[in-house]
Amino acid sequence: MKLVTTKAVDKPPRCPRCGRQHQKWYRYAECRFKALWAAGSGPWASFSDCPRGRTIQLYDTREEAERAKEFIDKWMCGGLCCRAHRVVYIGATGL
Ligand SMILES: [Zn+2]
Ligand SMILES: [Zn+2]
Repeated sequence: MKLVTTKAVDKPPRCPRCGRQHQKWYRYAECRFKALWAAGSGPWASFSDCPRGRTIQLYDTREEAERAKEFIDKWMCGGLCCRAHRVVYIGATGL
């Protein structure tokens, strides 16, 4: 019996901001969403839009991104946190 393996995460879509094909999800997220920094890999993003600047953590699944958001909602993401956190799917074009 063949088990279905977890599918590899696709490459990010072509970047509508610079027109390039970024090879890494975090590079794509940083460029497209003008983030101070982005980390991780995958199409599910936990955004922090708090005053110190936008930061993005990336995950393969929505559950992981939601969990990360809950965590920063509870513990704050930094010194100027105003809880401007959200989970965004960044895998689709035309967002
Ligand atoms: Zn770009
Ligand atoms: Zn915050």
